[in-house]
Amino acid sequence: MKWETVIGLEVHAELSTKSKIFCSCTTAYGGGPNTHVCPGCAGMPGTLPKLNRSVVEYALRLGIALNCTISKQCKFDRKHYFYPDLPNAYQISQLYAPVCRDGYLEIEINGLKKKIGIRQIHMEEDAGKLVHGAQSSFMDYNRGGVPLLEIVSQPDFRSAAEVIAYLEKLRETLLYLDVCDCKMQEGSIRADINLSVRRPGGELGVRTETKNMNSFKAITRAIEYEIDRQIEILEDGGQLFQETRRWDDEKGVSSGMRSKENAQDYRYFPDPDLLPLDIDDAWLARVKENLPELAYQKRERYMRNYRLSEDEAAVLTVHKNISNYFETIAEQSGQPAETAHLITGEIMRLMNNTNILPEDLSLDTGKLSTLIGLVCGGKINRSAYKETVEAVFTGNVDPESYIAEKGLMMVSDGGAVMEAVNAVMAENQDSVADYRAGKEKVFGFLMGQVMKKLGKAGNPDLAKKTLENALKTG
Ligand SMILES: [Zn+2]
Repeated sequence: MKWETVIGLEVHAELSTKSKIFCSCTTAYGGGPNTHVCPGCAGMPGTLPKLNRSVVEYALRLGIALNCTISKQCKFDRKHYFYPDLPNAYQISQLYAPVCRDGYLEIEINGLKKKIGIRQIHMEEDAGKLVHGAQSSFMDYNRGGVPLLEIVSQPDFRSAAEVIAYLEKLRETLLYLDVCDCKMQEGSIRADINLSVRRPGGELGVRTETKNMNSFKAITRAIEYEIDRQIEILEDGGQLFQETRRWDDEKGVSSGMRSKENAQDYRYFPDPDLLPLDIDDAWLARVKENLPELAYQKRERYMRNYRLSEDEAAVLTVHKNISNYFETIAEQSGQPAETAHLITGEIMRLMNNTNILPEDLSLDTGKLSTLIGLVCGGKINRSAYKETVEAVFTGNVDPESYIAEKGLMMVSDGGAVMEAVNAVMAENQDSVADYRAGKEKVFGFLMGQVMKKLGKAGNPDLAKKTLENALKTG
C-alpha cells in the first residue's frame, strides 16, 4: 500500500427535544420564516439564556451508550464568528469542559470488529439559515437555537466503508435512544469529514475538512474524491494546505471554501451568562436506569425470548419504527413467530414495491393482529391471508368484511371437500390409476386440482386427508 488514508468525523445531530436549547421556542422543522423565534434566540439585548435540561439528559443518554466518561461539571463557551446566521455573533458551544469524552463505538465489517474512539460529545446551539434572493439575502432564525450534539471521533477510520459502518451504527443508536430523528435530507444529522493521507506508518499529513453531504452515498463519493485529489497533488510534488471544502454532489467535486480555522481563531471563552452545570451521581443513575433498549439488545432478546433467527432479528431491528410494530403486533396477536414472519416477508415486500421507507411506515396493528389470529386459528388459508394482508396494507380495508365479501373463509365443511375430491377423481381417471399403480408423484397434481376447485377458501390439510383416503379406499 503506497498511501494510507486517515479520517476523523464530526457528526452534528439535531435533538428532538420539544423546545430550543436556551429558550422555550419550538424546534419543529419548517414553519414560515422567523415564526419560531423569540427575543432570546433572536439575540436581542437584555435577554439571557436558560438551559433546557432535556438537552443534557439526551447528551447523557448518548454518552452512556457510547461508553464515554461523563463530566461531573460541564461548562458552556462562546465561539465567535461573524456571519449573519448568528444574531449574537457567537455560538454557545462547549470547548474546555464538554459533557462527555473518551468513549468508543464498535463497528463490524466483513465479520471483523473495530473500535472507533469518540474524543468528545458536546452540546451547542444551531445557527439560523440564509435564504438567497435575486437582489438580496434574507435571514430565517427558526433553526437558530435548536439543540445539537456534536460527536467528534478520533482519526481512527481508514476507509469510506468504515465511515459508513460507523454512521449507520451511530444513526441506529441515536434513533433507539430517542434523541434524534436522523433525517439526513432535513439536515437533522450531518457529518463533516476530516481527511489526510500519509505513507503507512509515517507522520500524519495535512488534513482538509469536507462539508455539505446529505446522504451516505454522497459521503462515500466525497471521501473517494478527496483521497484521489490529495494523492494526485502529493505525487505531482505539490503541497496541500489546511482548508474547509464544500462538496457539490451534482458535479461530484468539492471546492475550497476557506482556509481551515484553528480553535484560537474563534476566540473561545466561558459564557458568563451560564453557570457551570453539575451532573451528580443521582442524575446520572436515573438516566442510566431509564436508558431505552438499544438495537443490539433487542436483537438478543428477540432471539432468546421468541426463538427468532439472527437474520429475522436483524431485519426487525433495522429501524425503531419496525421493531415497535413487531412488538405491538406480537403482543396483540400472541404469535411472535408468525408476526416476525409477516413483517420480514410480506410487509417488507410491500414496502419495497411501494417505496415506503421504514421511518414512514404506518401499519394498522389491530387489523394485522386479527389476520394473524385467523390464519393461526385455521380460519383462512395462506393464500387468503396473503391477499388480505395486501388489501389492509394498501387500502386499509376491514379484514373480516373483506374475507366475508370475497368468500375467503376456509371451507372446512367435509361434505364440500368430499364433493371436490370425487369430481377431480372422476375427471382424472388416468392419474388415479397411475397413483394406484405406484406412481405417487401424481398426488401433487391431483391435490392441485382439488384446491383449484375449492378456490381461495380451500382448507389444504382437510383436502389432503380426504384425497389420500379416497385414493386408498376407492
Ligand atoms: Zn426563542
